[in-house]
Amino acid sequence: MGRVWRAPVGAFRYVMASAHKVDIGGLLAGNRQRLVVDDRVALAPFEGVTFPEPVSVHLEMQASGELLEISGSVDATIHGDCGRCLADISSDLHLDVDEQVEAGSNLQNGPFEDSNVLAGDRLDVADLATQLVCSAIPIGLLCKEDCRGICPRCGENRNTAKCECNGDNN
Ligand SMILES: [Zn+2]
Ligand SMILES: [Zn+2]
Repeated sequence: MGRVWRAPVGAFRYVMASAHKVDIGGLLAGNRQRLVVDDRVALAPFEGVTFPEPVSVHLEMQASGELLEISGSVDATIHGDCGRCLADISSDLHLDVDEQVEAGSNLQNGPFEDSNVLAGDRLDVADLATQLVCSAIPIGLLCKEDCRGICPRCGENRNTAKCECNGDNN
C-alpha cells in the first residue's frame, strides 16, 4: 500500500494486499526460500476486549519439506475493564510466534485448528493474528495482580478507599 520495504538479504518482502492474504504457493513449491510479511491488522472486539489500534504482525516463513515454519511476532494494544474493579485497562501484548504447520493438512490439530489461517496456498494473516491474540488474552483482565476489587456490600473501590464492611464477607 505505497510502502517501500528494505529487504534483508535473502528475504522476499511481500507488500500486503488489502485482504491480508499471502500467497505461499511459491514458498511451498520450493521456489522461494523465505517469505517475510509485515502487516497491520484491525481486530474485532473479543470478550469485552477491544483493540484501539491495528495489531502489528511480523512473520517470517520458511518451508522445509511439507512443513511450513512460521516465526515472528505479533504486537497488540488491548483495552478492557478490570474484572474486579472495572477500571480501564490498556496494555501491550507481545507474542512471539513460533509455529510449524503441515502444508495441506487442513490444520486438523495444532494452534490453528478450526480456523481459516491456511487455505490451500493462502495464508490469512488477519486470521492468524486473531487466533494468536485471542488465545493469549487472559481470561478476566485485572488492573493489577492484587486488585482488591469493589466491595460487594457498599460498592466502594477497595483499591482506593477503605470501607466499613472490612473483614466480613469479602
Ligand atoms: Zn482492578
Ligand atoms: Zn464495603
